[in-house]
Amino acid sequence: MRTIDDFNFKDKKALVRVDFNVPLNEELKVTDATRIEAAKPTIIKILEDGGSAVLMSHLGRPKGQVNDSMSLKHILNKASEIIGVQVKFAENCVGEKAEAAVAALKPGEVLLLENLRFHAEEEQGDEAFAEQLSKLGDIYVNDAFGTAHRAHASTTIVARFFPEKKCFGYLLAREIEAIDKVMKSGEKPVTAILGGAKVSSKITIIENILDKVDNLIIGGGMTYTFVKAQGGRIGDSICEDDKQDLALSILEKAKSRGVNVYLPVDVVAADAFDNNAETKVCPVDQIPDGWQGLDAGPQTLENFKKVILESRTLLWNGPVGVFEMERFAKGTIALGEFIEEATKNGAFSLVGGGDSVAAVKQFGFEDKVSYVSTGGGAMLESLEGKTLPGIAAILK
Ligand code: AMP
Repeated sequence: MRTIDDFNFKDKKALVRVDFNVPLNEELKVTDATRIEAAKPTIIKILEDGGSAVLMSHLGRPKGQVNDSMSLKHILNKASEIIGVQVKFAENCVGEKAEAAVAALKPGEVLLLENLRFHAEEEQGDEAFAEQLSKLGDIYVNDAFGTAHRAHASTTIVARFFPEKKCFGYLLAREIEAIDKVMKSGEKPVTAILGGAKVSSKITIIENILDKVDNLIIGGGMTYTFVKAQGGRIGDSICEDDKQDLALSILEKAKSRGVNVYLPVDVVAADAFDNNAETKVCPVDQIPDGWQGLDAGPQTLENFKKVILESRTLLWNGPVGVFEMERFAKGTIALGEFIEEATKNGAFSLVGGGDSVAAVKQFGFEDKVSYVSTGGGAMLESLEGKTLPGIAAILK
């Protein structure tokens, strides 16, 4: 795997695909700069080598149209503050303006190009557009995990024009290493904890990881499709009736591959999907009509804790309850605490994909697990076993 450490950027211009798709408020100020912070080490390495960095990114969904509210100029101040260098700006990401700005760039300087998605060719993966981008640097660095699952011009196609001079930035390299640690080289026992609302959105992940894990913990809204398929009473809990056969076949497959599956045994049930609802703890397969399971119960959490603390490698995707409501967040918080404890004891823990990342941030576990992925869709596709085009383009 060729990374940024394999190159010396002295007197070179690095064309870096970053993910600066950050949230802006109504005054067009950055409200969460995590993604800019995450790209900083790569940019600093290039500058410290004596090179310059040409940064390209998308922001929002302008759909091929110039749109001032999605201009990357709005993040210039924040980026300059974080990187510690006054970042220059090119009003277009290709063409004369961009080329002139790049030509004027000196070692130690950073240039940010205007939003790639102001050109429809970016998302189309247009080769001529990628070729224009390729003129803006000597070495191509991809550090944008969040878009690595897209075969866009700047994430994938542009790499063709740098056959010998392309590499991963630190962030993307760390993401790849973290996924490999779980999926390929993880110390055993390996445990995946999958929660979230629906079986249908997790099925490809489950099928892929059954060959890679020793234990599979299933929680959250997915639970009830499994429980109903096995003949349990789930009351008004969320359920995908047409996925019951699938649920049974997953359990069969897991059994035949020697994977231990842990489902909830008890739940916190509520008489409405409401933070102020009446609640009671009941067995997962005896939920009365008019009640719905919204969080993991105490015995379930004890069972999950035991498995998690015995694991050496952990993957967590999806909350085990409706964590957006305070009264049904306890299970998800407890799970975070078990993973924190296992990590302290030396286990490797990866949190990735969608709402578990939001939960981990909300409840302050970000620094207490080994790695929190920065890419939602890209992480999900990696867990599904897909080769991401942005990663393949560098490896080729
Ligand atoms: P996902 O994006 O697939 O990880 O799903 C996350 C969503 O699942 C969150 O919005 C949770 O509120 C929801 N969820 C988790 N447990 C339950 C449950 N028991 N009933 C309904 N929704 C749930």
